[in-house]
Amino acid sequence: MDNLREVFEDKHLKLTKPRVEIYNFIKTQHIHPTASAVYEAVQKKLPGVSLATVYNVLNKFVEVGLLKEFKIGDETHFDGNTTPHIHFVCLQCGKIEDAECKESKKIIEAAQKRGWEVKEFSLFVYGICPECKRKSHIK
Ligand SMILES: [Zn+2]
Ligand SMILES: [Zn+2]
Repeated sequence: MDNLREVFEDKHLKLTKPRVEIYNFIKTQHIHPTASAVYEAVQKKLPGVSLATVYNVLNKFVEVGLLKEFKIGDETHFDGNTTPHIHFVCLQCGKIEDAECKESKKIIEAAQKRGWEVKEFSLFVYGICPECKRKSHIK
């Protein structure tokens, strides 16, 4: 909690209950939720919270760099991991998994060597996750 206070102070954000709940949910779950998934989860802890509040908090977090957002299809997902990493996306269950990858650093360095200032790095690998693969074998 102390740590969270510092994180928020550093970004000049007031510590409000929705902000704390949303931050904890995204940073601990690693599921790259959409705004409505965040809303559902946070509502269980803060029954009065509105979807508009959830959107405002998420956008604020993205604005100050606490979260990243990305689109898959029409859906915007939020990511608590703000360091460069790649994503494995399951075409069957929709799961989005983080993967650390040394090569991503190399790609960014390659761009920098050529004089680019890198603002954004995203790499998505689409496929069937191990669980879905196993399930399809059982059938
Ligand atoms: Zn899957
Ligand atoms: Zn991620």
